[in-house]
Amino acid sequence: MAKKTPKKVKHVPQRTCVGCREVNAKRALVRIVRTEEGLRIDLTGKAAGRGAYLHAQQSCWQKGLKGALAHALKVELTEQDREILRTYMAGLPDEPTEQDETPTGLERETVDHE
Ligand SMILES: [Zn+2]
Repeated sequence: MAKKTPKKVKHVPQRTCVGCREVNAKRALVRIVRTEEGLRIDLTGKAAGRGAYLHAQQSCWQKGLKGALAHALKVELTEQDREILRTYMAGLPDEPTEQDETPTGLERETVDHE
């Protein structure tokens, strides 16, 4: 069990997007939580239950729907779950243009500087 230490360290919680596997600040990701009634989009980030995170972009949700999310949450996605996810996904922006197949030869930089 983790102790409650009153540290004043400014640490940004990091989470892994189950779609693209990139680590990002928790608040930049959308939490999906597994409840007894099925999956839910947890906009507060505080709902009880096993959670997984996805970027707020459709490409990550599509990967999540293909199985990454089910795997992360250790559930089989029901049709209702998929419906919830698809509905939410429909309101998200498409994948960023940097992932387009542009023949620039530029590699995506994955190095982060704090
Ligand atoms: Zn992602």
